[in-house]
Amino acid sequence: MKIRGKLILSAIGIMALIIVYIIVMAVLSDKNLTGENTPGPVATVTPGSTPVQTPANPEPPSPSDNPVPSDNPDATDNPTDPGNQDNYPGRPGNPGGLVIRTDYEVFKPNEVGEIPIVMFHNFIEAYEEKTEKEFTTTFAEFEQLLETLYNEGYRLISMADFIDCNISVPAGCKPMVFTFDDGTPGQFNLIEENGTLKVNPKSAVGVMVEFSKKHPDFGLRGIFYVNMDRGNETFKGQGTLRERFEILLSLGFELGTHTWGHVDFSDAKNNNAERIQEAIGKNQEKAEEILPGLRFYSMALPFGSQPVNKDLRPLLVRGVYNNTEYYNESILAVGANPSVPSISVKYKSDYVSRIRAQGRVPVDCDLTWWLPRMTSSRMFISDGDPSTIVVPEEKLDEVNQDRLGGKKLITY
Ligand SMILES: [Zn+2]
Repeated sequence: MKIRGKLILSAIGIMALIIVYIIVMAVLSDKNLTGENTPGPVATVTPGSTPVQTPANPEPPSPSDNPVPSDNPDATDNPTDPGNQDNYPGRPGNPGGLVIRTDYEVFKPNEVGEIPIVMFHNFIEAYEEKTEKEFTTTFAEFEQLLETLYNEGYRLISMADFIDCNISVPAGCKPMVFTFDDGTPGQFNLIEENGTLKVNPKSAVGVMVEFSKKHPDFGLRGIFYVNMDRGNETFKGQGTLRERFEILLSLGFELGTHTWGHVDFSDAKNNNAERIQEAIGKNQEKAEEILPGLRFYSMALPFGSQPVNKDLRPLLVRGVYNNTEYYNESILAVGANPSVPSISVKYKSDYVSRIRAQGRVPVDCDLTWWLPRMTSSRMFISDGDPSTIVVPEEKLDEVNQDRLGGKKLITY
């Protein structure tokens, strides 16, 4: 696990987090075993647990759960093929039980290919006449989308792992990042049942928790970009804001900053150093007040806007407000392409592309538009081993070798 920023962990905090994680996983696996269909999760609150912005270890996938998608007609092999069993759990150097393959010529991994980062906003039960058209999804459509993405070979990774290019998805699969802006209750909220706080099954997180029981290898991952000025309105429902954050983090999700006040940095009145540092620093300051130790390491730009004055843009990355320092390792835009991975020479951490999820009405460059265009030849196809970067010989120039960070570069 990588510890980010100035996160200070006490031994007690680590213990508390582990306890919460064990409880969550125990309940999840219990539901799997019993086949019980009761909606909703699953997390109990451990008071005083330290927020740790380090995603929990991914579920080790079982080989039989892992289709290997490919639109390459030559790639006839797949990891469930008995001939490939050397590459499965138990393989030396693979304690996580990941599906790793080294027959590169057959399944053509490309770990400098693009990674889609999907942007979600609102989730509701059913559309009404006045429902906003482009940024709203129903729970049923969302569930269907998860199924589609799973079947097309996408697997969720955390923002932290995207930043580090630490890709733990099975060989032949494609990493994807889910991002959620504005902290709306449809994304995540808590309900109280018999005095216990639970994730509302009628929320995107509730749908994802349920989906992960069916497909644990899909990944229960995503980052939520919040505006602390919204206070108790963020993930509105039962529980305190602190409890909401704690439960979200304990499930393996992440929190990011979306500024104090949903600030439009392209607006002339915000085009100065003080306003920029206030917008980001105050959001960080308040986050730590709500949940001591919570550090944001990623920001989604409200409206996707940057300061017009380019000299001010470094302040989006790093700055200080009221003695609170902040550092955004990735800054996300709004549109409209899959992103290059952080290992690419083209990667710019201060303006990372996202694709909007399809809303009520499809539009060009939304996820539905992109899905058929995200072919194997352009996307990141994993070899399953997070400690290697495997690329076709002709793409070697696209790898920024300064960012390998100890990973082994392999060409074929
Ligand atoms: Zn927003």
